[in-house]
Amino acid sequence: MKCPKCSDNEMHVFNHQGIEFNICSPGCKGIWCDKGELAYYVETKNDTPRAQKRDESGCGTEFNCPVCETTKLKEYPYMDGEELLIDICPSCKGIFLDFKELAEVEKLSIKIDSEGKLQRTLNDLMERAGYKKT
Ligand SMILES: [Zn+2]
Ligand SMILES: [Zn+2]
Repeated sequence: MKCPKCSDNEMHVFNHQGIEFNICSPGCKGIWCDKGELAYYVETKNDTPRAQKRDESGCGTEFNCPVCETTKLKEYPYMDGEELLIDICPSCKGIFLDFKELAEVEKLSIKIDSEGKLQRTLNDLMERAGYKKT
């Protein structure tokens, strides 16, 4: 699989604790995630958590999907209200992340997770206090 950004570079598969990563190395160190893999890496429900449903609204890029080859990746917001845009293939829904985007994704995903934890904690407290969930 060729890196969509440095077209001559092959993406290499690295294994880490049973998880496979496709990384452009040596090269831009971008990573390719098949559909669902990004969510799995950063433990969110969806690859693009809390982003509104959008089909054709993405902004086209000049980069070809490394899997579908002729389909161009599109830029979509990772999450509503955040500036981070990630490259997604509209066909196979794979995601290409720049090395620095991965850090951003991680930061944002932690934010979601901690909000989730807060919500769960509150629910627990309310239940223990005798309030029934509605
Ligand atoms: Zn690359
Ligand atoms: Zn694709």
